[in-house]
Amino acid sequence: MIKLFTKVDEFISFREGLQNKSIGLVPTMGNLHEGHLSLISESSKENDLTVVTIFVNPLQFGPNEDFEKYPRTLEQDIQRIETLSIEKDILILAPSSSAEIYPENFSTTISITGLTENLCGASRPGHFDGVTTVVYRLFKISSPTIAYFGQKDFQQQLVIKKMTRDLGLTVQIKTMPIIREESGLAKSSRNQYLSNEEREQALELNTTLTKISDILTNQSYLDASISLNEVLENKIRDQRWEYLEILDSDNLQEITPTTDSAVILGALKIGETRLIDNQVIKIQYAR
Ligand code: AMP
Repeated sequence: MIKLFTKVDEFISFREGLQNKSIGLVPTMGNLHEGHLSLISESSKENDLTVVTIFVNPLQFGPNEDFEKYPRTLEQDIQRIETLSIEKDILILAPSSSAEIYPENFSTTISITGLTENLCGASRPGHFDGVTTVVYRLFKISSPTIAYFGQKDFQQQLVIKKMTRDLGLTVQIKTMPIIREESGLAKSSRNQYLSNEEREQALELNTTLTKISDILTNQSYLDASISLNEVLENKIRDQRWEYLEILDSDNLQEITPTTDSAVILGALKIGETRLIDNQVIKIQYAR
């Protein structure tokens, strides 16, 4: 059964009748693609029931970002979920307005420091406050057993894990792999803003990350520094790259001799469209 809720109160009443069931939560902004669907499938495998939220959260968009034009495609999203033919129950919570999530006079912000200052946090001030605030609200509304996030938003899933630990929330956070197009481009609702020509240009994001990953996998981190600097410096001069960094995947800080897993993260602007991607690799210092 797939059941749609547009009112948070009605959802909460229904949820209260579901004691003793394990609940998987998949928070999304809708316009579902295979990346989202992989989270929904995993949740359905692991839980009695899955809650998919579809909410374009105004708090996580900056004033000059794409909140207004972000694709809202609820009918199509429901159909996509239906095509998964999942036997277990799926509840879709697609609030009819922002006031459902943030009632009048709502004035609380959940703000995590330490993981939110660099990368997307630097280029999108306030973005992660918006993310943690909405995710905390969604956790309170749905009381999930496990919540599913994509590795595609690498910094985001770390921030959510940190919030969960810091606030002692009981929900378990699970991060699922990045689903890509055949070309290597990571699936994203924002890909549809791209013209055919821009889609070609967008491949540079994944190919650059793969190039760095190859250098780091085939050479030790120390030996690789010259080839790495070449790649990184070229990109720094290229205005389209908002960032391109290799960091410790546990804390998004500089790599140190104790780092064993690194993440290569990039944000590339193609025309008006901002795309992000990342790859996680094991790091070796010397051979
Ligand atoms: P969004 O609708 O963009 O907020 O994404 C909702 C969830 O889907 C987030 O946890 C994303 O990280 C995840 N997601 C988005 N794109 C992908 C992808 N290509 N592969 C895996 N997960 C994804």
